[in-house]
Amino acid sequence: MLKIAIQKSGRLSEKSLELLAEAGISVANSDRKLVAQASNFPIALLYLRDDDIPQCVYDGVADVGVVGENVLLETGYALDVVERLGFGKCRMSLAIPKSEKYDDVAWFNGRKIATSYPKILQDFLDRSGVQADIHHISGSVEIATGVGIADAIFDIVSSGSTLLSNGLKEVDVVLHSEAVMVGKKIALEQEKAATLEKLLFRLQAVQKGRKNKYVMLNAPTASVEKITAVIPGMKSPTVVPLAQDGWCSIHSVLPEGQIWEIIDQLHSLGAQGILVMPIEKMIL
Ligand code: ATP
Ligand code: ZN
Repeated sequence: MLKIAIQKSGRLSEKSLELLAEAGISVANSDRKLVAQASNFPIALLYLRDDDIPQCVYDGVADVGVVGENVLLETGYALDVVERLGFGKCRMSLAIPKSEKYDDVAWFNGRKIATSYPKILQDFLDRSGVQADIHHISGSVEIATGVGIADAIFDIVSSGSTLLSNGLKEVDVVLHSEAVMVGKKIALEQEKAATLEKLLFRLQAVQKGRKNKYVMLNAPTASVEKITAVIPGMKSPTVVPLAQDGWCSIHSVLPEGQIWEIIDQLHSLGAQGILVMPIEKMIL
C-alpha cells in the first residue's frame, strides 16, 4: 500500500484530490480522517498540514507527498521531486514601500526583512551577496513595514493587490512555485515502486490532457495542406471528407497556450466551424 500525504485543508487539498479522482482513484473520506484508503487502487491518503509533509516523507511515515515547492525548499529536506503537478502556482517576492527608490538587490544591504520563509530568503541573499537582517514572523507579513517592524517583506504574491493595499511594491521575484509530488525514489520497496509508477503514468495522462485541446474544423480540400502545416497533431492530423464536395473535416490536438494564435491562422486559411474541446486523458 503506497502512502501519499496530502494537505488536510487549504489551497492544495481540493486540487490534489481532484487530480487523483481524474486519475481514476476514488477515496471516500467525507469526514477527512487522518488516513483514508482508496477503494480501487493500492494507496492510502494521509491528511496533514502542508508544513509537516516533507518531514513525514523524509521519515518514511508517508512514501510520497503533495506539497508546494516553496514549503519543500523552506523545510530543506533532501527529497526527489517525482512529478510537477501544474497547480498551486504562486511566486515568492521581495517587496518594499512604494515611496522607496529601488535600483537593484543591493538596496537590501543592512535592511530588515520580515518573512515566514527565512531559509529561502537567506539562500537568495547569500546567492546575491546581500547582507540583511531577517525577521521571522509566522503570519500577516504584509503589514510588517506599515507597523514599523521591518523595512521590507518577503512573501507569497498572487495578484499583487495585497501588496498595493499595504503601500508596497514588488521589486524582485525570488521563486516560482507549484505543487509537486515528492518522495525518495530509491527507498521504495518493489510493490510500492510499481504502484507509484502506475500512478505517475495516470497523472501524466491527466496533465497532458489538461495542457492540450482537441480541435475540429471544416476546410476547403484545396487548403488542407496549408492548414495541416499549422496544426501538426499527435502524429499527424486526421483528415476526413465531408458529404459536401470539395470540403473536409480536420481533427487535431493542440497545446492550450497556443490555441488562439493558431485559430487566427486557421481562420485566415479559410477554416470554418472550428470546435475546441477539452481532453480528459492523453496517452502518447
Ligand atoms: P496548512 O494549514 O496546511 O499549514 P497553509 O495555510 O500553510 O496551510 P495554504 O494557504 O493552504 O497553506 O497554501 C498552501 C500552498 O499553496 C502554499 O504553500 C503555496 O505553495 C500554494 N499557493 C498557491 N497560491 C497561493 C497564494 N496566493 N497564497 C498562498 N499560497 C499559495
Ligand atoms: Zn502551512
